[in-house]
Amino acid sequence: MAAPKHRRTALERVEKFLSETYFTDCNLRGRLFGDRCPPASLSCFQTPRRIPYDEAVRQEFRPAQVGDSFGPTWETCWFKVELSIPPAWAGQEVHFVWESDGEGMVWRDAQPVQGLTKEGEKTSYILTSSMKEAEPHSLTLYVELACNGLFGAGKGSMIAPPDPDRRFTLSKAELVVFNRDVYELLVDLEILLDMAQLLGEENQRSSQALCTANQMVNVCDVTDPATFPAARALAAAFFSQRNGESQHSIHAMGHCHIDSAWLWPYEETIRKCARSWVTVVRLMERNPELTFACSQAQQFEWVRSWYPGLYKQIQDFVAKGQFIPVGGTWVEMDGNLPSGESMVRQFLQGQRFFQQQFGRVCSEFWLPDTFGYSAQLPQLMRGCGIRRFLTQKLSWNLVNSFPHHTFFWEGIDGSRVLTHFPPGDSYGMHGRVEEVLKTVKNNKDKGRVNHSAFLFGFGDGGGGPTQKMLDRMKRMSDTDGLPRVQISTPDQLFSALEKESSQLYTWVGELFLELHNGTYTTQAQIKKGNRECERILHDVEVLSTLAMAQGGGFQYPASELQRLWRLLLLNQFHDVLPGSCIQLVVEDALQYYAEIRRAGAGLQREAVQSLCRELLEPEAGNAGGTLVLNTLPWERTEVISKAGPAGTETLALVTVPRMGYAVVREPLLPPQPVVVRKLEDGSIAMENGVIAACLDEMGRLTSLRLLDSQRESVPDGCCANQFALFDDVPLYWDAWDVMDYHLETRKPVTTLLKPLEVTLAGGLRGSVSFSLQIGKSSTLTQEIILDATCPYLRFLTQVEWKEAHKFLKVEFPVQVRSTNATYEIQFGHLQRPTHWNTSWDWARFEVWAHKWLDLSEHGFGVALLNDCKYGASAHGNVLSLSLLRAPKSPDATADMGHHQFTYAVMPHLGSFQDAGVIRRAYSLNFPLHTVPARSAPCPPCSAFSVSSPAVVLETIKQAEDRPGAVVVRLYEAHGSTVVAWLQTSLPIEEAMLCDLLERPVAGERLRLEQRGLRLSFTPFHVLSLLLVLRQ
Ligand SMILES: [Zn+2]
Repeated sequence: MAAPKHRRTALERVEKFLSETYFTDCNLRGRLFGDRCPPASLSCFQTPRRIPYDEAVRQEFRPAQVGDSFGPTWETCWFKVELSIPPAWAGQEVHFVWESDGEGMVWRDAQPVQGLTKEGEKTSYILTSSMKEAEPHSLTLYVELACNGLFGAGKGSMIAPPDPDRRFTLSKAELVVFNRDVYELLVDLEILLDMAQLLGEENQRSSQALCTANQMVNVCDVTDPATFPAARALAAAFFSQRNGESQHSIHAMGHCHIDSAWLWPYEETIRKCARSWVTVVRLMERNPELTFACSQAQQFEWVRSWYPGLYKQIQDFVAKGQFIPVGGTWVEMDGNLPSGESMVRQFLQGQRFFQQQFGRVCSEFWLPDTFGYSAQLPQLMRGCGIRRFLTQKLSWNLVNSFPHHTFFWEGIDGSRVLTHFPPGDSYGMHGRVEEVLKTVKNNKDKGRVNHSAFLFGFGDGGGGPTQKMLDRMKRMSDTDGLPRVQISTPDQLFSALEKESSQLYTWVGELFLELHNGTYTTQAQIKKGNRECERILHDVEVLSTLAMAQGGGFQYPASELQRLWRLLLLNQFHDVLPGSCIQLVVEDALQYYAEIRRAGAGLQREAVQSLCRELLEPEAGNAGGTLVLNTLPWERTEVISKAGPAGTETLALVTVPRMGYAVVREPLLPPQPVVVRKLEDGSIAMENGVIAACLDEMGRLTSLRLLDSQRESVPDGCCANQFALFDDVPLYWDAWDVMDYHLETRKPVTTLLKPLEVTLAGGLRGSVSFSLQIGKSSTLTQEIILDATCPYLRFLTQVEWKEAHKFLKVEFPVQVRSTNATYEIQFGHLQRPTHWNTSWDWARFEVWAHKWLDLSEHGFGVALLNDCKYGASAHGNVLSLSLLRAPKSPDATADMGHHQFTYAVMPHLGSFQDAGVIRRAYSLNFPLHTVPARSAPCPPCSAFSVSSPAVVLETIKQAEDRPGAVVVRLYEAHGSTVVAWLQTSLPIEEAMLCDLLERPVAGERLRLEQRGLRLSFTPFHVLSLLLVLRQ
């Protein structure tokens, strides 16, 4: 073999031999395609709607030409393509080539057969691999062309709002002869060239690769295919020189990340799934070794209902073990913001779907692209039959490099799952040498385990794997100098990791993403819709279960609840709930929330009517009483507003039993009325016997005291309930990111529009209100409310928000010293530092919480509660709640307009656990329901009670597929080991523990004792029970 003398000229010689730009008249690349011929005819019609094939083919098609453009954005153009293959092409491989910047789907004989997307490197539909004389030479195809790209239609940059007027061009539509022998040589040479370049000059294998490639060019006469086998033999000899035993193993799996909505609406995602997956099916037919890991039950369900023919083919490949459902959730949801119960339902809906459709649940949780991962997830995974987790998003950390790629992840309750981050830091690999080298080089645990995942295929907007990716990896399967690359499955990967797991490290607590921290706040209406609809479905389930258990023929609305849950779960997708989607998606999401509110209200009405029928029946001459329902598991004494005579609203102090109801006839008198006093300097003092507040004329708290102890919450000279506006210009990801430097631009909001005045003078409720100007053109009006007996001050806030790149927060400096603050998460809470000592501390300058956060020192603390916010921070002694952002991409209208939200401040003695902060935060989020009723005497009714204040009874629902049984879910909320007794008035025949998928845990039948059911909890333990009712 002649060896090249000069490395650089040899490298460039091979490069030019493969170039798509240079020397294509005489190089190998120029020979990839042989003869070409245009379609016999091409015609089209355009529609603004996404219509089914049957409807499309009945339309009138007009002549069209290559070079024509179509649009505007989001329209669909259907093409009818008549093809006639020249007889002279007998024996040749013939492709239909289609190039456009829109996303295409080829239909043949009324079935989708191939997705064609130039951005996804898919432009060929293979008509035949060897044209036979007897085959029909004429055929008709339809191409459904969506007027959007893989990444939507952003104007200027990918994440810019879509350009509504974009046109999409058909740049190629033809029949071609495809020279497969040229293609194979090109792939050989590409891999050799990459190895020569990337392994480095000092590496022996690099030189050998270059020598082989150079020699191949020498023996290859591009005009004479007879010379190709000799060249291929040189490559084959090189690639078959094998690795040693110690070499790293890469588990390659086809994958296609499809965002369920992002820069395109949900409806387009349905087509993206079909385009991507039909292409995978075609690849599987030609490559029986190809595996494809596919997540999100919702996407399977879409394809099942919209493309039943394709779905049948997918089912066949699932049965063969090639098309592999993974993840176990309904969608790849946001990992921070959904409630604990929502997270459970993601798995419940997902795993049940996979079980019903494919006969098995998923054994891996799969969430590669989500913006952080709650420390409660390990327990929820374990409760849903999952011990393995795959993600990679933490490679996006802006500040700290996460120290592991394979490790055990331990949640707040101590549950552990084996976790793997594909070390190539991507879920969209292309099967290149560079990527497999990075996978090993970057792997931080390669001394401990010798296996890594490698997910290949175009992603985010769909696309998926290509033949070329597979062909590259075939050459790298076991060749000296490169890691072993085998087509594998998630199960094979994790099984291999499990075998080697003895030396792995454990990461405890949340997997916090040090980026995208604006997503806790962006699109406030979506956040509010999520919180509110979680509450609605909770309440409907509680009340429907009680109605069902009472008998009387009430039908639990199981299928309607499933429909509504699925809408809510869909909106929790990791670009919708975080608010990082375009305006079209926001509109859809808000409509789904409206539907849940509408249908939920109807279901609640039906349940209450069945549950309390006798109380609701009108009685002649009976002065109106009020039925008050409490869906929370503790007794509540609160001020409610009820309908009075002639449409008026009156206040009443009521006590309502745990998970039950009472009819209020004569309201209670408060032990102490609320007193509101205006002072001479314009400030106002409010107190209710529990707390006392002083507010200045801008509505700021200058004092907040616990009356019993006279303990002050507000530090001397400070003001709490201080609004502050920050400049909010991130580096790129506008809707996603708030950067650390925004904190340097803080401006307190101090422009008063309407000074503080008394709006309710006291008694059962006192309130004051004021208005501020924010920035140039936004306004804020706040009503500050203090109720009799209530330990917190409530801030009902209205904002007209018209800002650009600003961030509004409200701050509460408190007289508390602690190095850690506590934040509520799913079924529990965790602590984060209040200082910025290390990079790991200050990278968490903006964090998330659910219904409350708290800063406590020994014996005293202050909690901040909210009814629809998620962004928060605690730095030093200042608690901040993040209220509104104003990003302009990808939705230029994000958050503009009217907002209403409530937060509350609650000072307390003792720990937040003992002071009942958790219960108060629930109460703020789950208001008592009131219904006009007759005023006949009725004993209060309570369905459930739990003996320990540490245990929260979160969920009551009918068991899936089991009308005579009830599922009850409780969790330990204080972080303690306790025994609790659960009492219920429901007629229970049998009780057993079950997992989160409602499968009974073997041998865990519970004894029904006098005091109820005895339940043991460890810290943050989530426990589910199956209660079989007596019929
Ligand atoms: Zn994504």
